[in-house]
Amino acid sequence: MRDERFVLASHNPGKLAEMRDILGELGIRVISQREAGVDVEPEETGETFEENAVIKAVAVMKACGLPAVADDSGLAVDALGGAPGVYSARYGGGHDRSDADRNAFLLKNMENEEHRGAKYVSVIAVAYPDGRVITARGECRGEIAREEKGAGGFGYDPLFLLPDGRHMAELSKEEKNRISHRGNALRELKRKLTEQDQK
Ligand code: IMP
Repeated sequence: MRDERFVLASHNPGKLAEMRDILGELGIRVISQREAGVDVEPEETGETFEENAVIKAVAVMKACGLPAVADDSGLAVDALGGAPGVYSARYGGGHDRSDADRNAFLLKNMENEEHRGAKYVSVIAVAYPDGRVITARGECRGEIAREEKGAGGFGYDPLFLLPDGRHMAELSKEEKNRISHRGNALRELKRKLTEQDQK
């Protein structure tokens, strides 16, 4: 069991809670940027989830000298050629649009589409002060529903239809963590960190 601290490169309290739960099992304490006294907002200039996750983790690691962890995630819709992808947070306009605006925009773009397959993707990067970088990817497949349902989760969850017929926003926090892209990426990261310990 290790005794390490990772600074989370995000101001999103939801992400902090999910990271704390899973990495806590490895003895890793996830602390917020505020707790670490760093206030950097790196620009996500990458074209892939991997690039953006690494940009965020490295920027925070350099700012505080501690290992940092970052997640970059989004929704990729088959019929839209993988859009909104890395632009999920600014789909249909800037960051000032609401989740409801983005969902309405997505529904409009999918109006005449029969093939509704989609996936959520999450890439988590850990950057260490000695230059090592580890990334782990997780996905979750589903479909884009024709109407919103459910009050849980966030973002596109009311429109994300799972193979069991429920919308992601209808799941409890625990149920979502068990199947979600972020949960899957965190479990993959956990596997890679454990493997690294054994070397
Ligand atoms: P990021 O914070 O730059 O990684 O942006 C991620 C964006 O992707 C969010 O703003 C949401 O629009 C979307 N997204 C990522 N994960 C989820 C999820 O679990 N549910 C719903 N939307 C998500």
